[in-house]
Amino acid sequence: PKHKDFPMSIQTVGIIGAGTMGNGIAQACAVSGVNVVMVDISEAAVAKGLATVASSLDRLIKKEKITEADKTAALSRITTSTSYDDLKRTQLVIEAATENFDLKVKILKQVDALLDPSVIVASNTSGLSITKMSEALPEAVRPRFCGIHFFNPVPMMALVEVVVGAETADDAQPRGRAQVGAHEAAGVFEIEVLVARRGR
Ligand code: NAD
Repeated sequence: PKHKDFPMSIQTVGIIGAGTMGNGIAQACAVSGVNVVMVDISEAAVAKGLATVASSLDRLIKKEKITEADKTAALSRITTSTSYDDLKRTQLVIEAATENFDLKVKILKQVDALLDPSVIVASNTSGLSITKMSEALPEAVRPRFCGIHFFNPVPMMALVEVVVGAETADDAQPRGRAQVGAHEAAGVFEIEVLVARRGR
């Protein structure tokens, strides 16, 4: 199927979960100049995620991969929240919460109800089927739901898998330097933020 309403570009990425993967994805996006809203269930969880980003950036400064100014700029692009409402101002939401089918579906339903129908919704799941997750979601979100599977540690790993479910729209090409093809169904998906991988 075609999907005509995708955003032309992604300025702000929403990330659900500030754990290992969520904060790594936040860092990779922010270093590449993309704004991030990182959401978790508690202030403590988001604070820990943000602190992990800060210390990871410090390591990159020590290795002379980035400057102190790059760190300041990257951190200024990351907003944290404990409310899904703050995901409303994003063009792409990546769910990176705990690996549990029912939990992820519950989160995605709640979040999708808040989002503009042009927002691309993705899961970073390692092991769950994107098609099965899609089937558990409202019909309207299915064409714009896919997997975006980053690898740990995200800031170091260029590889990103875009996983296309049976009902994911196929009207665009994935772009990104070290991206591998889709599983689950033929077809591809445009995720402009993947150029963010340049910033690793
Ligand atoms: P993690 O345990 O480090 O982080 C998960 C975070 O999700 C926690 O901070 C938790 O508080 C948060 N969370 C739980 N329920 C939530 C909710 N309702 N709303 C918002 N946040 C919530 O886990 P992780 O290792 O970052 O894994 C996250 C996802 O990424 C999983 O689906 C996993 O399969 C996938 N993944 C993990 C790796 C890896 O090597 N760790 C690699 C690729 C993909």
